[in-house]
Amino acid sequence: MAEGKVNEDNMKKVILARIGEIALKGLNRCTFEQRLARNMKAALSDCGACSVRWSQSRYFVEPENEDFEFDKALEMLSGVFGLVSISPAYVTDSEYDSISALAKEVAVKAIEKYGKGGKVKFKIETKRGLKSFPMKSPEISAEIGGDLLEAYNKQLVVDVNNPDFILYVEVRENTYIYTDIIPAPGGMPTGSNGRGCLLISGGIDSPVAGYMIAKRGVSLSAVHFYSYPYTSERAKDKVLELAKIVGRYCGGIKVFIVPFTEIQLAIDEKCREELSTVIMRRSMMRIAERVARKSGCSALITGESVGQVASQTMQALYCTDNAADMPIFRPLIGMDKMEVVEIARKIGTFETSILPYEDCCTVFTPKHPKTRPSLSEILEEEKKADFEGMENIAFEGIETVYC
Ligand code: ATP
Ligand code: MG
Repeated sequence: MAEGKVNEDNMKKVILARIGEIALKGLNRCTFEQRLARNMKAALSDCGACSVRWSQSRYFVEPENEDFEFDKALEMLSGVFGLVSISPAYVTDSEYDSISALAKEVAVKAIEKYGKGGKVKFKIETKRGLKSFPMKSPEISAEIGGDLLEAYNKQLVVDVNNPDFILYVEVRENTYIYTDIIPAPGGMPTGSNGRGCLLISGGIDSPVAGYMIAKRGVSLSAVHFYSYPYTSERAKDKVLELAKIVGRYCGGIKVFIVPFTEIQLAIDEKCREELSTVIMRRSMMRIAERVARKSGCSALITGESVGQVASQTMQALYCTDNAADMPIFRPLIGMDKMEVVEIARKIGTFETSILPYEDCCTVFTPKHPKTRPSLSEILEEEKKADFEGMENIAFEGIETVYC
């Protein structure tokens, strides 16, 4: 092989994946680990044949043939909840000479990547999981560092404070060498924490709220209230598109679309305008709770945050909470819009959320909503319309779409 070139075919490549919170689990840790392995397999299903195994807080993805799509696999795994980071790594046996030889090959690739005329600064970090290995971690780092400087003294220089690359060496049953650590979202494996029902609108907040709860290992169903013809078919498609994007992170979402026009018209016609939004929210909560129970969900999830609009003051949220006999999770409760937007951009929902199609809430927004409604006046107001009857009809008219 010519100096400075690496024969990629001879280097066995795998993906190392690191777990976060799961490592803190006690007796039930194994259940979470198995679930994560299943989810990783599912995420990799279109990448080609591979095996997924784990040992000592590390997962190892090993391609089974050359057709395995390595870059696609990295992209897929970087979205799997439960993983905190991943690394493409090269493997050799845990003999010093093999480790040193592989370190040189990996260093050549790093020199190609980071060399811009001057010397490339590097350092080595070693983890020794194999306690029978005769050298300790600092000693391995020093020896390998010496070998690299000897082989590439014109291209490399050690700089432990400000390196261009770090060469990581993990000595286990086999030894893994890599330079890149790609962040993954953390959280808990999808499906390990039950199922919740997301109230999804076409806005920026609710898809982010769904993502955040899904990240805690909760599978999602979703409910959307739809006021045709006041809201268009395109507004519905937009919501389904958002559900599809969030569903990519958590194994898909079944969306229940509730015909809500009659209820909104009745509220508009019969109830005091300044209370109409909270009354509408309460009706949404009652229907969402029925959907949630029917689809095996133990909680409702919304994108509300304190003070964002009149219906999200503490008093209004109290009135809304009172309509449902189920926990309501509001992961954005203490967040600013800018923080929510940042996550929306990161998870890929923002561009769809800002498409200009109207939502049922915006169509029927009162001019002067009451910011401190009392529950007693809301309950009094609700007597003016047959909510039970209308909600039964709406519930019967639900359409379901798998996203
Ligand atoms: P988003 O909060 O999603 O950005 P928004 O700000 O227009 O949209 P709000 O009026 O703030 O919506 O509604 C608060 C929450 O109520 C939403 O985050 C969502 O969980 C729920 N919600 C609002 N409208 C609908 C709807 N049409 N269908 C289902 N849930 C809805
Ligand atoms: Mg909102």
